[in-house]
Amino acid sequence: MSRAGSRPEVAVVIPAGGAGRRMGGSTPKQFLTVGGEPIIALTVRAFERVRAVTQIIVVVPPGYATSTHRLLRRAGCTKVTAVVEGGKERQDSVRTGLAMITGDPAVVLIHDAVRPFIKRRIIEDVITGSFAHGAAVVGVRVKDTIKREGAKGFYKDTLPRHLLWAVQTPQGFTRHLIEKAHARALKDGFVGTDDAMLVERLRIPVRIVEGDYGNAKITTREDLLAARLRVGAR
Ligand code: C5P
Repeated sequence: MSRAGSRPEVAVVIPAGGAGRRMGGSTPKQFLTVGGEPIIALTVRAFERVRAVTQIIVVVPPGYATSTHRLLRRAGCTKVTAVVEGGKERQDSVRTGLAMITGDPAVVLIHDAVRPFIKRRIIEDVITGSFAHGAAVVGVRVKDTIKREGAKGFYKDTLPRHLLWAVQTPQGFTRHLIEKAHARALKDGFVGTDDAMLVERLRIPVRIVEGDYGNAKITTREDLLAARLRVGAR
């Protein structure tokens, strides 16, 4: 791990342990290519470019650790300190990644492997927000009108759009806070859909950093095609 003198250090955990079932096919989506490069390599490189980031931990599906290590080395990644096998749920994978952090980074960022288009400016804003507020997540304002389901086949009510954010990653936290939140969730048997939810349970306010709609999550085959078109169109 390279130390940045007395500058505060940031560790990154990249959960890439999903099987990618919604995509179909046998290769998990994070290993498919966009613009000729594996998605995971694009994502890791985005964080390598941020100076404050001193260690990156990648969490992969069982059986993928050696090949991923090799792939990332070949892609020129130098800040990856561990590639480990994940668990059943994303939350299990993140917890496994957190346990691999070394040294004393003040802030930890968590970022989905399948969001390769994350911009450096947004990563830096999340880091700044995490240092200032203890917890910060990237979000975009919801463009659609969101309705809540009621009786089967009918909606119950309409949520006030001006208050709604679609939350993405990276999500950043002080190391102590995110470790505490994961430990508490594990103890309570609580499974959330993102890491900020685990922090909310501790009644800690989470700062929203306005991101961009381009930080899309590649989940379905349509998302993959859109990502490939986007790179080709550049
Ligand atoms: O499944 P979902 O789209 O929410 O996955 C978000 C991220 O979490 C992906 O990068 C995926 O590889 C990762 N994940 C994981 N371990 C799991 C499930 C998902 O690291 N068990």
